[in-house]
Amino acid sequence: MTKIELDHVTKEYGSLVAVDDIAIEFTEGAYTMILGPSGCGKSTTLRMIAGLETPTRGDVLIDGEVVTDQPPRHRNLSMVFQSLALWNHKSVRENMGFGLQMEGVDKEERNARIEEIAAVLQIEDKLDQPPSELSGGQQQRVALGRSLVRKPEVILLDEPLSSLDEKLRLEMRTELARIQQELGTTFVHVTHNQEDAMTIADEILLLNEGEVQQFGPSLDLYHEPDNEFVADFIGSPSINLFDANIVENGAVRLDAGGISLDLPERHRDQYLSVPRSDVRVGVRPESMYLGDDGESGWPAFSATVDVVETFGDYNWYYLQSDLEESLVSQSANVNVMNSLSRGDEVTVRVNPESVHLFDPKSGEAYF
Ligand code: ADP
Repeated sequence: MTKIELDHVTKEYGSLVAVDDIAIEFTEGAYTMILGPSGCGKSTTLRMIAGLETPTRGDVLIDGEVVTDQPPRHRNLSMVFQSLALWNHKSVRENMGFGLQMEGVDKEERNARIEEIAAVLQIEDKLDQPPSELSGGQQQRVALGRSLVRKPEVILLDEPLSSLDEKLRLEMRTELARIQQELGTTFVHVTHNQEDAMTIADEILLLNEGEVQQFGPSLDLYHEPDNEFVADFIGSPSINLFDANIVENGAVRLDAGGISLDLPERHRDQYLSVPRSDVRVGVRPESMYLGDDGESGWPAFSATVDVVETFGDYNWYYLQSDLEESLVSQSANVNVMNSLSRGDEVTVRVNPESVHLFDPKSGEAYF
């Protein structure tokens, strides 16, 4: 397995800072996603790992060795591009074997590797057809197979799912996770899609405007966001965010508009260490329970159902309340789902353990 490290890597294009001082170590053998909005520096970061771009400052290390000035072919990694660039006048076998042939690998060894990888990719019965006769998902596997037969230590993927239709995208992302687990190869995958990242990545590097917002296990970004940007970017529908003041009145409570929420006693000291006025509060939709769903001691307020979106086994409820912002709650409670519709008054209970507090200026989480 191979360890990739970015040691204070910066990439500037003229006055534009595309990647700003990234210092991280990717976990060996993990599926890592580089995530963030368009233009945040994801591809540039990947291309610097690949050796297709040279950092303005800082170093790329592979297994502890500085490779910043090494060309891509000396890095034992392979990149899968968004455009598949398959040859339709050649068979799948020839497409997959071309790189090996160029490296001088003999035919017997080539065929053995192609067949081994084709079996992992479940395209072994397509090897003698041209790619044009394959489905979009199968073509994607051929492109991946072309990289995998070379047994690289690291596979770099630049938005490999973005050109696929929704159903195929979901299938292919599951496949990518399965293939990565089966081979144990380090995968570094660029995406702007937070759901793809959350569902298959072991760890996520979330960037914004070239800067690291958070790097770590996917669930840490979800449950313990370092800042408001992370909280807002990860999760769908987005986390509810609103302004409040912290009030100490026996209990410690959040005061927001006409709503007041008691916070858990056991975190009292933590809450009181935060500036009392103007905090940003974040509560995920699944931590806002409707009706009697939730523990009765949890703080509650009333709201009106504005829009209901149905997904079969759960609903999203967009709510109006005394807060300025509209709130969204997710419920899978059958009683709630059968009884609530637009215009209904409802009691909202908030799981106080799931309340995040952010500094409204810097966006940093208080704890
Ligand atoms: P992402 O992959 O997150 O969409 P990129 O890494 O492609 O973002 O680009 C980051 C920023 O750098 C963008 O503002 C983009 O326009 C700029 N950029 C990328 N490549 C070049 C280049 N070769 N020349 C000038 N600017 C570039």
